[in-house]
Amino acid sequence: MPARNILVINCGSSSIKFALVNEAHSQFALSGLAERLGSHEAVLHWQRGGERDSLMIPNADHRAALAQLLPLVHGAAGGKLHGIGHRVVHGGERFTSARKIDAQVVAAIQATAPLAPLHNPANLLGIEAAIRLYPNLTQVAVFDTAFHQTLPEYAYRYALPEPLYREHGVRRYGFHGTSHRYVSHRAAELAGLALGDSSWLSAHLGNGCSTCAIVNGQSRDTSMGLTPLEGLAMGTRSGDVDPNLHSHLARTLGWSLEQIERMLNHDSGLQGLSGLSHDMRSLEQAREQGHAGATLAIEVFCYRLAKSLAAMSCALPQLDGLIFTGGIGENSALVRSKTVAHLKLLNLALDPQANARCIRGVAGPIQAYGHPRVLVVPTNEERQIALDTLALLTN
Ligand code: ADP
Repeated sequence: MPARNILVINCGSSSIKFALVNEAHSQFALSGLAERLGSHEAVLHWQRGGERDSLMIPNADHRAALAQLLPLVHGAAGGKLHGIGHRVVHGGERFTSARKIDAQVVAAIQATAPLAPLHNPANLLGIEAAIRLYPNLTQVAVFDTAFHQTLPEYAYRYALPEPLYREHGVRRYGFHGTSHRYVSHRAAELAGLALGDSSWLSAHLGNGCSTCAIVNGQSRDTSMGLTPLEGLAMGTRSGDVDPNLHSHLARTLGWSLEQIERMLNHDSGLQGLSGLSHDMRSLEQAREQGHAGATLAIEVFCYRLAKSLAAMSCALPQLDGLIFTGGIGENSALVRSKTVAHLKLLNLALDPQANARCIRGVAGPIQAYGHPRVLVVPTNEERQIALDTLALLTN
């Protein structure tokens, strides 16, 4: 059987990220982004081989953008596209793994929208447009939450009145599941361990950040909760704050719920602490030049990350390794070393040269000799979504 091609689609409210994954090749045959959809400035950017190109698609919506993409995908796939994998943010308690998309699955994604009001409707726009354009192709939904459905109840329940859970689904769900799953598989391969008999801490550090405890290939705890705001300090999200902060700000400053939500999601985290940028690369440069806000933002980010990892260690029977991934985890030797420096009680220590070497896609162990394993593992959510889609094609 010739190697199969899967188109992976990740839809936001005004954007579509895409990648064409061939099962036999590690590089994407085609990848890109349609952005500012629905506006006059809508534009499609793509990369094929070493070449980049763009096309203005004024006023294109999701469907029009996907239609523009079609000839590019067919060209890059040699006319052979075997399936489409869609990233869906929230699968609630309904979805514990990837699913072939049919009318019932679409209805269930719609029904979960109150838990992810920005993301699930955007994901559905992409699904509906792709079904219309490719009615005869298998389409698969891969959920960010599904991997965490193995959390024990004592890890996913909040200490809140029970009817809030039973009647309204208020519980911890967790996100970034596709990434934590992918990197734990790769880590087990790199370490020569059986995934089904290994225990990992994983730190996915991108613009959104989360930690996860993975035992025998299953998620046992994770730092994000009902929404992706819980847990670590992130690019623009606060992570954990005192739950009374809302009422305090409403009472003392007269802020509305919308203002508070906007502040916690968009003006906080690295951005809020530094007053400079949400971007770790920029903050590292500013820290070098003595910028106090950037220095503090990095300190807070690493300390909170270490605290979360220490908390996650409660879920492990033993520690086979700590995994760093995501744009920051894969590239910031500074964040890795500052974080590990807070974890002496777990006996963690880094080899500075190995730590410095593992950047820009280089994977490998970075621990000091004789200390527990610490691995840098580049994530590849698109590839994991394609693998999940292929598995359902085969079935
Ligand atoms: P997203 O969550 O949007 O997929 P990424 O995983 O690409 O984001 O991560 C983005 C973050 O990674 C940004 O904070 C960026 O500054 C950081 N990053 C990328 N390269 C480096 C680098 N060389 N050093 C430090 N941080 C980096």
